Amino acid sequence: MSVLDTFRLDGQVAIVTGASRGLGAAMALALAEAGADVALVARGSCASVSSAIAALDRASLSINADLADRTAPTRILDATLTRFGKADILVNNAGIIRRANALEYSDEDWDAVLDVNLRSVFVLSRAFANALVHRASGGGIINIASMLSFQGGIRVPAYTAAKSGLAGLTKALANELAPLGINVNAIAPGYMATENTEALRTDPTRSRDILARIPAARWGTPEDLMGAVVFLASPASAYVHGTTLTVDGGWMGR
Ligand code: NAP
Repeated sequence: MSVLDTFRLDGQVAIVTGASRGLGAAMALALAEAGADVALVARGSCASVSSAIAALDRASLSINADLADRTAPTRILDATLTRFGKADILVNNAGIIRRANALEYSDEDWDAVLDVNLRSVFVLSRAFANALVHRASGGGIINIASMLSFQGGIRVPAYTAAKSGLAGLTKALANELAPLGINVNAIAPGYMATENTEALRTDPTRSRDILARIPAARWGTPEDLMGAVVFLASPASAYVHGTTLTVDGGWMGR
């Protein structure tokens, strides 16, 4: 097998949460382009991503689910197994952010962010990994972390706690699942131009300060994650376990 073939995902089935727009939509398309069929999860419509995947001659399934709902992970996995018969790759991408100073941060915002960004990731990963073990198959879990898996951030205490927890969870799951042939890794995007960062990009001071600190001298785009997700989902990264790969224009090295 040539090294380029090790990046292919033909015959694989991926689940991507938060696939309706932004980073999740681009990663779903990248996985499809590499050969995978994809289950697309979001509260809203994934119709445009689904059409783009069809244009690549791959199949997709749109699953309407709110990851704040504790029954969602089971429903997502069941729907995927019913449609495709299996799931090989899970990209835990869906995430929310609520901004306020810690002194005024509400319990509601804390719970909402931790539920979607951390709790649902664990519960869905556990169900997904159990299905792989049941099938006696390997597979891959890719968690979407953040610069705030490493740094404190400003006015986002719940988000930082969740994303820092996610980096730890990535290592904890990798320790247990690597011997079973399941690769668990994370991608930590830098500052990317999506809805999630709209408040930062429209604040002239924050926007200027962030851009000035990025060695690559530009905000990231969803397309910047396409290579990283295919790498971590494919046999090309077979011996990579428990890592958090930064895709950040050099931010963490500065
Ligand atoms: P985005 O543009 O706001 O997209 C978020 C996605 O998650 C959407 O598809 C959204 O779809 C879905 N989602 C949100 N809440 C959900 C819920 N309760 N249940 C199911 N789906 C839900 O954000 P993004 O920038 O692409 O971010 C994607 C991930 O990357 C997040 O985990 C984020 O924390 C992380 N990240 C982003 C950046 C950045 O600079 N943008 C940097 C580091 C990390 P619906 O609204 O239709 O449900």
